[in-house]
Amino acid sequence: MAEAFPVGPEGARFAADRMLGRLARWLRILGHDVAYGPHLGGRTLVRCARQEGRLILTRDTRLRRDPHLPPHVFVTSDHFREQLRQVAAAVPLGGAPLLGRCLDCNRVLAEVPREGAEGRVPPFIYQCHDRFLGCSGCGRLYWPATHRAHILRELAALDLTVSRS
Ligand SMILES: [Zn+2]
Repeated sequence: MAEAFPVGPEGARFAADRMLGRLARWLRILGHDVAYGPHLGGRTLVRCARQEGRLILTRDTRLRRDPHLPPHVFVTSDHFREQLRQVAAAVPLGGAPLLGRCLDCNRVLAEVPREGAEGRVPPFIYQCHDRFLGCSGCGRLYWPATHRAHILRELAALDLTVSRS
């Protein structure tokens, strides 16, 4: 069923089981909208997915017995790279803007003028970077250049290609 799950230009919408924290974070790095938190498990996860039209990612075998389970991917591996491969096989993951979301609270990030970052990031970071993104939810600032090389290496190892925006 996951094959038919719609993926818009802003990426896919997932509801990740609370057991899948590292996978959820990587899907956010890839720019996807991922509902995730300590409260999201079992029936709560299913309710969230149904109400918000999200694809369920779960390792919970009890959910598998539900014949009316909304679109879902049963994640079989313990290892996040294998998990990411499994999701990528079900849903195209490459189309969303890389590092477009807060890794902590899932909100879309907005450009912050460079002066606006002064004093909010370590001075050496401020000196070395021109581009900053901010989260309107938790206030966290991101400087994408630092993480981009690492992320692209990791994705290349996974045979995942992403847009470079
Ligand atoms: Zn945030």
